[in-house]
Amino acid sequence: MIPGTLGTPGTPSGTRVLLLGSGELGKEVAIELARFGVEVVAVDRYAGAPAMAVASRSHVIDMLDADALRALLEAEHPDVVVPEVEAIATHVLAEVEAAGTRVVPTARAARLTMDREGIRRLAAEELSLPTSPYVFTDSLAGVRSAVEQLGLPVVVKPVMSSSGHGQSLVRTPEEVEAAWETARTGGRAAGHGAVRVIVEGFVPFDSEITLLTVRHAGGVTFCDPVGHVQVDGDYRESWQPAALLPGVADEARRVAGAITEALGGWGIFGVELFVVGDRVLFSEVSPRPHDTGLVTLVSQDLSEFALHARALLGLPAPDPLRLGAGTSEQAAASCAVLAHGDGVPVFEGVSEALGVPTAQLRLFGKPSVHGHRRVAVTLARGATVDEARARARAAAEALRVRLV
Ligand code: AMP
Repeated sequence: MIPGTLGTPGTPSGTRVLLLGSGELGKEVAIELARFGVEVVAVDRYAGAPAMAVASRSHVIDMLDADALRALLEAEHPDVVVPEVEAIATHVLAEVEAAGTRVVPTARAARLTMDREGIRRLAAEELSLPTSPYVFTDSLAGVRSAVEQLGLPVVVKPVMSSSGHGQSLVRTPEEVEAAWETARTGGRAAGHGAVRVIVEGFVPFDSEITLLTVRHAGGVTFCDPVGHVQVDGDYRESWQPAALLPGVADEARRVAGAITEALGGWGIFGVELFVVGDRVLFSEVSPRPHDTGLVTLVSQDLSEFALHARALLGLPAPDPLRLGAGTSEQAAASCAVLAHGDGVPVFEGVSEALGVPTAQLRLFGKPSVHGHRRVAVTLARGATVDEARARARAAAEALRVRLV
């Protein structure tokens, strides 16, 4: 790739991006890349994943299978590899990076953030960033001694997990064993041998935020902090801007700047932070768009996906304009729509949902639901965060998901 030059897809001048992970966030990235005439090849472990519907072509492989991933990389020969999920054979990414292919943001960042241990040790032990107290262990006895050391309550999470899978809050000694079982069976490594967990002191935070941080050819850009609510470790609502005490926003940028600089490369990072009084604790970071950042689809002229596309192509990503600044609708919100059960989603009440003032929808097009799954998001704006949240929630309530 020649910096600042983009060709025509399907010809030798074209820029080809291999998207490893094709969920709803990857879909928006693919749309933004397509706007630059980039050829997007979407990959996931199941057919019909959301980004596949908007990509030039797609492949279904197990991205944890190093041989399958290597064969695909050789066949597609992409200019840029964009990991959009954590479950990838990251040593293969290191190989292609060493051979000259850009991995976003870097192969090392993908490896370190693939499990909670690499990133936590980097943040707390190398960079001395404030975090919750923690212990890593791989046995029930280890969890018990971590509880003695940290005191209750604690949060137990498999090191290979996200979105609350395998995570429990432990309030009493009697709950330790169940938490260990949940972690053993709920993480990505479940069924693949030993399970390692992080035991974290519970943080009685006042709020939690995501600081979207973009590293790009022109420098570093921070978005307005995104506030969010999680239920069972999974995001339900987010909004922007999150109200922070004076000084806290600066501290959040300092922490986000330090961790993203240590990871390096170009792309957007979702830096998750807990705010406790005037303190900011680092929680974790995704070296890719963040689900709570879906709100930027209606809050900024360049969403987190547009910023990511620019950065990963080696282009500058300017400070996004906050939409509605100076008008009566300065705040924005998103509300996740979950489906429960088994079947193919059908969305009813779409017109009613869109009838809520300022409401927008993203229906992900996921082919099926087994258990519970996020299938759509509603987006809205308002004069205040409260109004924007109420509108996003009203749109989500109007939207009924039937599984057929
Ligand atoms: P994580 O997958 O680590 O982002 O955790 C998901 C969510 O669980 C977080 O966004 C918090 O709402 C909650 N959580 C995780 N760790 C802690 C902790 N140490 N103290 C309090 N809440 C936590």
